Formats: sequence, C-alpha cells, structure tokens
Amino acid sequence: MQIIEIEEPNSGISSSNEVIVGIDFGTTNSLIAVSRNGLVQMITLENGTYLCPSIISIDGKQILVGDKSHKNSINSIKRYLAKNSEEIRTNQALRTDIEGLILSDDVPKFLVGEELVTLTELASSIFQHLITNASKQLDAEVKKAVITVPAYFDDNARGQIILAAKLAGIEVLRVIAEPTAAAYAYGANKKKEGCYLIYDLGGGTFDISLLNMMQGVLQVVTTGGDSMIGGDDIDELFARYISDKYSLNYDYDLVLEVKKLKHNLSQATEVILQHGKQEILITREEFESAIEPLIDKTIAITVNTIQEVENLDLDGIILVGGSTRIPLIRQKLAEKFDTEIFDNLDPDQIVAMGAAMHAENLSTVAGNLLIDAVSLSIGIELYGGLVEKIILRNTPIPFAVTKEFTTQSDNQTGIKIHIVQGEREMVQDCLSLAQFELTGIRPQKAGKARIEVTFAIDADGVLSVSACDKETSRMSNISLKPSYNVTEQTILENLN
Ligand code: ADP
Ligand code: MG
Repeated sequence: MQIIEIEEPNSGISSSNEVIVGIDFGTTNSLIAVSRNGLVQMITLENGTYLCPSIISIDGKQILVGDKSHKNSINSIKRYLAKNSEEIRTNQALRTDIEGLILSDDVPKFLVGEELVTLTELASSIFQHLITNASKQLDAEVKKAVITVPAYFDDNARGQIILAAKLAGIEVLRVIAEPTAAAYAYGANKKKEGCYLIYDLGGGTFDISLLNMMQGVLQVVTTGGDSMIGGDDIDELFARYISDKYSLNYDYDLVLEVKKLKHNLSQATEVILQHGKQEILITREEFESAIEPLIDKTIAITVNTIQEVENLDLDGIILVGGSTRIPLIRQKLAEKFDTEIFDNLDPDQIVAMGAAMHAENLSTVAGNLLIDAVSLSIGIELYGGLVEKIILRNTPIPFAVTKEFTTQSDNQTGIKIHIVQGEREMVQDCLSLAQFELTGIRPQKAGKARIEVTFAIDADGVLSVSACDKETSRMSNISLKPSYNVTEQTILENLN
C-alpha cells in the first residue's frame, strides 16, 4: 500500500464559510454536530433530540430511519456491517428473523420493495438523515464530514462505514477513532503529554481504550472490551430482578418500563414503578445490587486490558456512552483507579463533539495534506553511515514511537540526529530530511549515556523528532514535513 492521498493539498479543505460536521455513527444512537469558532453545536433532529436511534425499518418500498415503534426493523445496524451472511447467522447477538433480510448469498441483502440492497446501503440512510437534518438546521449545504469508528474496527469494517457515508453523498475528510474523538472533546490534544483511559459503555457494547499523547500526537495504545455488554443488558438484568422480586411477568414491556426507571435512577435515589394499579417503590440500591456483577465485569476487563502496559501513569479516565451516567460506574472506577475521572461533558454527545472539533480544526488549517500512512520509511543515521528505520513504510498515522540510543565514544558530549527517508540501508542512498544536535551530555564512557529519541507524526503529517538525555533531561527537537509523495525511484534519481 502506498500513501493514500484522500485529497490533493488545498483541494478538499473547505473555504472559511463552509461547515464541516462531525458524525458519531453509534450502535444504539447516531449524532451529528458542528463546531464554529470553538463552540460546538449539536444538531437537533426531527424527533426533537440529538439522538437518532440507529434503527432502520422497512415499510414497503420505504426505508425509515430511527423509528423505534416500527415492527420490521433492524436495531443496531452497525453490528451487522462488514459481516457476511454466515457470520450474521451464527452470531447470537444478531437477529435474523427480520422480514426482508436475505442471507442466502455471501453478502447479506435486504429486500426493499422489489429492490435488493446491501446493509451498508441501508446504513447510509442514517448518514443521509443526519446530513439532511444538519443542512436544514444550519441553512447550509452540508457535504463534508469527519466521521468516527470504533478503535478496534478492522480495515473492512472501517471501509463499510466510510462507504455508507459516501453513499449518502458525504465527502469523508477524516476518520478518527471514537475514543480519540472523546479525548479531543476534553482538550487532550492541547496538551503535550498525557495518558488517558476511555471507558465507553453504550447501549450494546463496552469498549475500553488507552490513549497516549506524545509530542502532540494522540495514539491508541491498546483496546479491549466486550461487544456483548451494554445498557441493553443492564435493562434485562434489572427487569429480571424486578420480575423475580415482585412476581411480575418478565416481558418486553417490563424491559421498556425498567429502562425508564434506570434512566431516572441515575439522578434520583428512588423511583416508582407503576404496574397496573400497583405502585412499587424501587431504590437505587436495589438497582445497583441487580447490576453490580455486570459493572464488576467491565472493571475486570478494564484492569485486564491495561495490565500489560509498562510504566502506566494515567492522567485520567474519560467516561463515554449513555450508560456511564449510572453513578455506580463512576464509583467503582474511582475505587479501582487513583486518577481524575472526566465526566462533565455529556457522555452521549462527546464523540460527536470531538469529531466536530476535529472538523473545525481541519477547516482552519489551510493546505493540509490528507494522508493516512507513511509512504517511505523514516529513520536515523547510525555510526558508519548505516540507517536505522524508526517508522516503517505504510505505518498508519498519527503515530509515535520512542527509542533509546547511546554515545559511540568516550567523553562524547554531543550527538547528531540525522533524519532520513527511504528503504535503503546506507544513508547516502536515502533522502536526507533534516539534522539537529543534542549537546550537553555529561562526559562519560561510551555506551553509558541514555538518549531517548521520539518520533511523532501527527494527523496532518507533520513529523516531530526530539532527543532527550535521560540523565540531564536536556532536550533538542525539530519539526518538519517529510515527503509523502516520493517513490524510492525519485529519491535515487535525485541523490547526486
Ligand atoms: P451507543 O454508543 O451504543 O450508540 P449510547 O452512548 O447512545 O450508545 O448509549 C445508549 C445507552 O445509554 C442506552 O442503553 C441507554 O439506556 C443508556 N442511557 C442513556 N441515558 C442513561 C441514564 N441517564 N442512565 C443510565 N443509562 C442511560
Ligand atoms: Mg457510542
């Protein structure tokens, strides 16, 4: 894979009065937002809220979006994307009894009227719905967007979401990970360093991501979670508890009823369940005892996910997803982790907010070269004119890495960092990008000094290289834009 130029420099980026929106295509709910002059505005949809249920219903020839009451619906359509018929059939979390769903071919299809459409085409209706609402509310033609995808999505699943957006006529300027968007909403991008845990409990999935901010580059270090744990399971547990304790029939209506109670119990400490003529007082304690095993499971998954990360020093936990409004979650996290918990932004909106902020940033940085991978390796010169590759070709960006180097001779007090680009082993056969020097290293025996060199490429393709002497903390750094559209051939042709 060569670099992917999504846009030519200066072309895709908007002029100043054009809006670029941020879209969070969620499993349970999807949202759209715009940021102007640093202020994020959530778009209110036809249903009077910011939340578009990610539900597609088929009514004859019509595709309806977000209609919860319709019988023939696919809930959580995001779960079905990028799956083949076999995978859908064997996945217990997915319904297959939906009228019109055809799983006989490899690619699942849907019968809409007399036409066969793919699930990605159906999902594009959600993007269409969001964009139409935004255009109306903003009184502008909204065509460009930054969209978010789960951090763990593979290229195929990512590709299907991008395609769904494109089919809705959207020009996708950038795709960012959902946890990255959340960290962005809290301004993590404004800090130089930082390490954040993103705890995302939505309607149907639980995702945990560890992000590291290095030299202004926000990177996903590791991810974990459980795609079968979410708010829907909390509803079921709570409904089972109530049905057992108060001898009520466990059915769909009861689940819907207790969902409302659950929402209220995030604020109130007791609520009334109206059942026929019966009024039952339910306390938050009862609710918590019913769902505690599930919350404990999410905490255990969180601990497991990050336990292999060495020298972990958390700067905070960011709460994402509607279910994190449940006070017990915050309480359990606070008991387990001694770090700040960020919860003052709305956990439903935070991903769309971050995407919108990223979008605004794109529209104000003129001449961005939109790339998502490094075309030729970037490395540094070692003793004897050899090259050590630090960032390998085709590494997706943003990316950051730190390596340790040392001195070659006794009493050496300075070290030259020569940054080169290319696949060849010798410096003379590569493109020289820049050099700088780190001085003030304490004179000592060769091989004693510990020089940490960090390479970081941000989402705009800017490379920052810094060298730091671990002992004295002296630091030296440089920022530059490597060549993204060069080939090995051009490098060799231009060397002499
Ligand atoms: P997703 O990322 O899967 O699209 P959301 O972040 O929109 O999901 O979260 C939806 C879930 O949040 C639902 O299960 C809903 O019941 C739950 N939720 C929303 N508000 C509250 C609340 N006040 N208390 C508890 N759970 C809530
Ligand atoms: Mg979500």
